[in-house]
Amino acid sequence: NLEQGPEGSETPIQVVLRVRPMSTVELRRGEQSALHCSGTRTLQVSPDVAFRFGAVLDGARTQEDVFRACGVKRLGELALRGFSCTVFTFGQTGSGKTYTLTGPPPQGEGVPVPPSLAGIMQRTFTWLLDRVQHLDSPVTLRASYLEIYNEQVWDLLSLGSPRPLPVRWTKARGFYVEQLRVVEFGSLEALMELLQMGLSRRRSSSHTLNQASSRSHALLTLHISRPTSQQVPPVDLGEPPVGGKLCFVDLAGSEKVAATGSQGQLMLEANSINRSLLALGHCISLLLDPQRKQNHIPFRDSKLTKLLADSLGGRGVTLMVACVSPSAQCLPETLSTLRYASRAQ
Ligand code: ADP
Ligand code: MG
Repeated sequence: NLEQGPEGSETPIQVVLRVRPMSTVELRRGEQSALHCSGTRTLQVSPDVAFRFGAVLDGARTQEDVFRACGVKRLGELALRGFSCTVFTFGQTGSGKTYTLTGPPPQGEGVPVPPSLAGIMQRTFTWLLDRVQHLDSPVTLRASYLEIYNEQVWDLLSLGSPRPLPVRWTKARGFYVEQLRVVEFGSLEALMELLQMGLSRRRSSSHTLNQASSRSHALLTLHISRPTSQQVPPVDLGEPPVGGKLCFVDLAGSEKVAATGSQGQLMLEANSINRSLLALGHCISLLLDPQRKQNHIPFRDSKLTKLLADSLGGRGVTLMVACVSPSAQCLPETLSTLRYASRAQ
């Protein structure tokens, strides 16, 4: 029940599944679709294999449909009240993660992407900037944008020459990235410019040669602060939050993770594959354990889980958009995405 608020929700993660349309290449190869959406919440893989999610969106769903089905406005409202909320996309490379969050890349120099193709991020930005205009108290908005690649954090908005930044922890702040550029903005245009700056750096950065964007995580965080008296922290959530956060995470491609088996093997291979993605799965599984109050959640195991700790660990809501290709050729990967996503809810 989305109205219950963070503590009332049954699971820490809500999961929406998006099946992208067949690509022209897949159609030209004559590939068949292996997936059937039956109803709005069930994905049928074969007569006896089906998965249920908070919502299932087929290839005919528009970017606007996806934005609505994901309930991102509700996450925005929670962030305005001081919670940490996260939207992340999960799936194999080419499944539509980046498209879902930020829309397609521009088709050429100076060719604008039509607004109808804008992703969840642009739509949330538009909503938020409009929303804060109608609040009776002032709000300070700031943004940061970073990339985690090979367990190193790179500032996508940095003004100086790029270098990896350390992640620190203090009691007051929790985990944070030292010397990360956090930019205050007052207009939608300014925020869109920051997004474009990060996106173009992501596509071209020297440390992410060789298709490595599929092996890096990109995190854009909006920091929302309001005068303390205006914040409405629920009484049972401990000390009042310093400010709300809304974080959008374009995760690395999940393909390598699925190939691994047991937990032990996961941990062994963590360094060579993608430690952050594996640690995320591990933290999620422990959070879902009914005994979770007793569980120690190993957020410190990776950069990604450190930076998502407050949103995963209680004072927030996390939404996972699992992305899959309909193609039968991708079915083995699709199945592991479906299993991972279905275990997370
Ligand atoms: P990922 O980030 O998961 O690697 P992309 O978002 O880059 O995948 O998507 C792969 C390709 O498919 C891109 O060319 C993208 O524009 C296209 N694509 C993905 N999802 C859709 C969609 N829902 N509708 C149309 N094209 C899509
Ligand atoms: Mg991508």
